[in-house]
Amino acid sequence: MSESYVIIGDGIAGSSAAETIREAKPDADVAVITDEGEALYNRILIKEFAKGKLPEAPISIHEEDWYAERDIDLELNTFVTHIDADAHEVHTHESGTFEYDKLLIATGGTPTQLPVDNSDADGIHHFWTFQDARKIAENAEQADTGVVIGAGLLGIDLAAICGEQDVDAHYIMRGNRWWRYGLSLDGAEIIHDALEEKGVTPVLESGVNGFKTDDDGNVVATLDAEDNEYESEFVGVAIGLNFNTEYLQGSGVKTDNGVVVDQYMQTNVEDIYAAGDITRYYDVILDEYAQNGSWGSAKQQGAVAGKNMVADDDEKEEFRWVSSYSITHFDFPFLSFGFPTLGDDECEAKYSDTEWRRLSFKDGKLIGGVLIGDIAPQGKYKDLIRNEVEVADQKDILLEKEFDPDKLALPQEQ
Ligand SMILES: Cc1cc2nc3c(=O)[nH]c(=O)nc-3n(C[C@H](O)[C@H](O)[C@H](O)COP(=O)(O)OP(=O)(O)OC[C@H]3O[C@@H](n4cnc5c(N)ncnc54)[C@H](O)[C@@H]3O)c2cc1C
Repeated sequence: MSESYVIIGDGIAGSSAAETIREAKPDADVAVITDEGEALYNRILIKEFAKGKLPEAPISIHEEDWYAERDIDLELNTFVTHIDADAHEVHTHESGTFEYDKLLIATGGTPTQLPVDNSDADGIHHFWTFQDARKIAENAEQADTGVVIGAGLLGIDLAAICGEQDVDAHYIMRGNRWWRYGLSLDGAEIIHDALEEKGVTPVLESGVNGFKTDDDGNVVATLDAEDNEYESEFVGVAIGLNFNTEYLQGSGVKTDNGVVVDQYMQTNVEDIYAAGDITRYYDVILDEYAQNGSWGSAKQQGAVAGKNMVADDDEKEEFRWVSSYSITHFDFPFLSFGFPTLGDDECEAKYSDTEWRRLSFKDGKLIGGVLIGDIAPQGKYKDLIRNEVEVADQKDILLEKEFDPDKLALPQEQ
């Protein structure tokens, strides 16, 4: 009997695992189950669609034919309700049971809803799926006024959509700056100025008390922490993700705000692996458990999980990766790499009104950073992270505008 591989989630993690498994095991049964109604698309590009800048077609990555041609069973609109790990079974809402020899959990997260009055009113949007993007585009095209909530990497996408769609928007943030865990005030000011230029006004050190709606249930205004009222026909909320782990209850799979896996993407339960945003994985460079919400990392985790699901125990591959996440909404580039919000030491420099850099270190080693304005040195910094060299005592050289790694004094063996 042929081996059977079941993958829950057809995001980039699940899909790349399916492709890897199929290449290694031409005769195995491979099934990909997703609750979405469409096959893999580029989640990074849905913001460009919502801005009105890109048609639908280029966002799709795989048509359904792609799966059929590879004899991969794609189950769309299929919600997984629970897993019986002893019986090696995946149970779904309406599509029966799938038996597996090896299972991959790649179900990512769902945006968190604001726990305030009327937070489910029409016109209040969360942003994760292509369907969300279609609704956002439709609403933002019509709206004149808007509010965005959530000072992170997804919130700024919603703010940029308002900017491009000519929505006069206020961007409400809890702290005194955008992405306070990754940027100092100096760095964040560059972003605030760029938002203002797009017609988005940052509202700092505030919060949201609730929303007002009209008689039809459409949002019309947002109340901030002081009950100031902002007209808002459009609201975008991006305050975090809840990982989709409910269906794992009772399965024995260890979770800790995500599914815990080792560096081989293996959970604590035999024959069950996990990959992508949903994992809390052992990061071999950082030497601790970590989480990463980025496309490249999810793709690589899916590929590594796929390889390890088909490999013998002595041939398993580690996930070893330096991630990056770029923002392309402004006239200047922005790139975050590695783990800029972790570490025990940091340094930063501002080079001009639109150029700034910050680096973070752990145990003397570079582990991440943020580059605004000039992202050219990213490759050199990432090499230092990969090579795990101790450089924290040479911050002046690291922060030179034209950073030259040859100037660093590195121990011979490194
Ligand atoms: C608007 C937006 C912009 C982004 N921009 C960037 C960027 O510029 N750069 C970058 O690196 N990253 C970006 N990201 C993040 C990146 O897209 C994610 O890190 C990546 O897509 C995660 O892939 P994944 O496969 O782990 O999870 P997902 O893509 O979330 O896929 C999980 C899938 O599982 C399905 N699922 C969940 N529960 C169940 C269930 N019970 N049964 C069946 N199916 C289920 C979900 O519906 C989903 O289809 C962005 C994300 C968004 C939303």
